[in-house]
Amino acid sequence: MKESASKSVAYRSGKVLVQGRFRDDLVVITRGDRIASVQGVDDPLDDGVQIIDLAGDYLLPGFIDTQVNGGGGVLFNDQPTVEGIRTIAEAHRAFGTTSLLPTLISDDLEVVEQGLEAARDAIAAGVPGVRGLHIEGPFLNAARRGVHDADKIRPLSREILDGLSPLPNGCTLLTVAPETMEPAVIAELVNKGFIVSCGHSDATQKQVKSALQAGMRGFTHLYNAMSQLTPREPGVVGQALADDESWCGIIADGHHVAAESLEVAWRCKGAGKLMLVTDAMPPVGGAESSFQLLGNPVSVRNGVCIDAHGTLAGSALDMASAVRNMSQLTSCTLADACTMASTTPAAFLGIDDQRGSIEAGQVADLVIMSKDRRVRSALIAGQTPDSSLN
Ligand SMILES: [Zn+2]
Repeated sequence: MKESASKSVAYRSGKVLVQGRFRDDLVVITRGDRIASVQGVDDPLDDGVQIIDLAGDYLLPGFIDTQVNGGGGVLFNDQPTVEGIRTIAEAHRAFGTTSLLPTLISDDLEVVEQGLEAARDAIAAGVPGVRGLHIEGPFLNAARRGVHDADKIRPLSREILDGLSPLPNGCTLLTVAPETMEPAVIAELVNKGFIVSCGHSDATQKQVKSALQAGMRGFTHLYNAMSQLTPREPGVVGQALADDESWCGIIADGHHVAAESLEVAWRCKGAGKLMLVTDAMPPVGGAESSFQLLGNPVSVRNGVCIDAHGTLAGSALDMASAVRNMSQLTSCTLADACTMASTTPAAFLGIDDQRGSIEAGQVADLVIMSKDRRVRSALIAGQTPDSSLN
């Protein structure tokens, strides 16, 4: 066993996010890859514990991003490989993301298969930060396709459904347009182990409700690429906001969703059901500000990824910026925003028994954030980026 496997570290003098609020009277002790205890400042420490003085910095649960198309110059659709995932995860780690789902936009089914294989192998190989896969299409509604290629969008046939299996070793999130399939199909996907979310959908409120009853549990980038709230037809947005049980991902880059719409989502869903996602593209943590999205040139202008037609094409957002934006653009606190980037997506993915909060027994995925809200360090299973290389 490596020496580091059982090393104990005590993080003290920080503002620790515990149960949705910051506490400055706690010491967090990690041992190896786990949080060993969370104790009071006056409780004695064991001999040999390394002490890290946070000097008033924030100690947060690692950020969990359920929607990451790319980063570090890599678009996952172009590089659905273990190395592609490694590059994307490393790029996002600099912004506090310690768990992510690489995300495929609508593509050929062979690419979906490659993505599943790559995510499975990356998890098996222990690539830091990969927790599963998000398959965002092709079973969507072309009427709400956004930048997805209309030629790739297709119905989920019985043959495809029978051949489709979730990852055996991670979370498999599947975004679908529920109006394109029977609720029984959604129930079948859920029974197979997929986490089903509604997105790129023109569904009526009734169709959404039926899908939720069949086991659908979330909404993909709330407000964007979905039927809107109107007086007599609440649409996807209305049902998402009115429903207490489901989770909503939201892109808080200040461009995809207006500040007032973010505020409405926050007031309706709260920190427990609204989760921050980046929908990030290759420029995040990368050197280039332009890229090809399935043959469609996209460039970053004023912090926004747009294609030649001016359509938003994912985002240039990183999770630390999403946290800052959410707490600045709405009435939620920084603690709420951090919860929406960690605890809430962990619950959505059903991995909250292992990750997403600072308590004894959890995996030591931790973010140290400075007083001016910049990420200083992101630990995955107790390891800093340098130490996880060996
Ligand atoms: Zn999308």
